[in-house]
Amino acid sequence: MTSAIALSSISKTFAADAVPALNGVNLDVLPGTCTAILGPSGSGKSTILRIIAGLEDPSGGGVFVNGVDMTSVLPENRRIGMVFQRPLLFPHLSVIDNVAFADRAAGLSKAEARRNALRFLDMVQLEEFASRPIRSLSGGQEQRVAVARVLAARPAILLLDEPFSALDAALRDDMHQLLADIRASLSPTVLLVTHDRDEAAAVADRIAVVEGGQLLQHDTVDRIYHRPSCRAVARLMGGRNFVDGVAHDGAHHSAVGRVTVDENIPEGPGALVVRQEAIAVATASPSRSLAADEFAGVVSAVQRNGARRSIVIGVDEIDIHAELPPGVNLPVGAPVVFTLPRESVSVVAR
Ligand code: ADP
Ligand code: MG
Repeated sequence: MTSAIALSSISKTFAADAVPALNGVNLDVLPGTCTAILGPSGSGKSTILRIIAGLEDPSGGGVFVNGVDMTSVLPENRRIGMVFQRPLLFPHLSVIDNVAFADRAAGLSKAEARRNALRFLDMVQLEEFASRPIRSLSGGQEQRVAVARVLAARPAILLLDEPFSALDAALRDDMHQLLADIRASLSPTVLLVTHDRDEAAAVADRIAVVEGGQLLQHDTVDRIYHRPSCRAVARLMGGRNFVDGVAHDGAHHSAVGRVTVDENIPEGPGALVVRQEAIAVATASPSRSLAADEFAGVVSAVQRNGARRSIVIGVDEIDIHAELPPGVNLPVGAPVVFTLPRESVSVVAR
């Protein structure tokens, strides 16, 4: 299948003496999928979107949309819609005329453009606000209008640059549902920039992790969490366990012990990574010896983490972070046993 978006060795340097903002980025996005570009501030996320949209020229490499080289295609001819963190609406136009703007610019009559606009206002649940002035809307409503306005131009590709990050948590959940509705009814290819891993996991099929202008890993949400390609990805996904050791013969060996690992892991020095929420912890019973896949330790710290508690288990000099199920508590000093589910452990060589 031809990629809806293909980036080939994209680099971008803004000034001759500056560190490159992007360095050899390759990315393939299949039609109708949603990929989240996740990375810290300044990692190059917006630059990637701006280059795809044609708002910025790459210093090297190529952008292909449905297999077509975009080098000489003007931004307005790329059939790409972009939504930014701020709605950037026309303040002097009503809600409906903001949404009707693309059709008006394309030469449709006012009546026809407004008729089309209503359909998209309906989709973002703002049809009752059609004749309102923009300044009477809340921030969340303004962002919905911005989404409707972009959709009304019928883009094949939707680029979203942290569009929900200025909204409070409840509104953000509504916007995630709206994005799911839009995907179900219009099937655009979506690239969503975010620095929020929970948002990425909630809305995207795949995550592209960037740091320092480089694409570290592009994979399914599950694999990004459970099979990170390197420490940086594990850390950006909130992973807390990095146990240095050596991998050989399908297992990782460290002071924690021998941990069987499923995947074809790189042999040699590497860190065992295991998601803190995947570790199963139980109180140790003195009358029972350890099973083959069990490890023993002592609780050295307890933290509250929303409705759950997180603990640190000391094993020799190593700290293992684990999240307890809701309602479960273990005191500092408690001897515990724990298992590391094989589907959640991996080894990273760097
Ligand atoms: P992100 O969206 O991940 O926060 P950006 O893509 O905006 O990151 O920026 C990546 C890097 O490129 C940053 O170091 C930023 O300062 C730099 N940069 C972005 N746009 C420009 C510009 N127009 N001129 C100079 N430097 C820029
Ligand atoms: Mg940005």
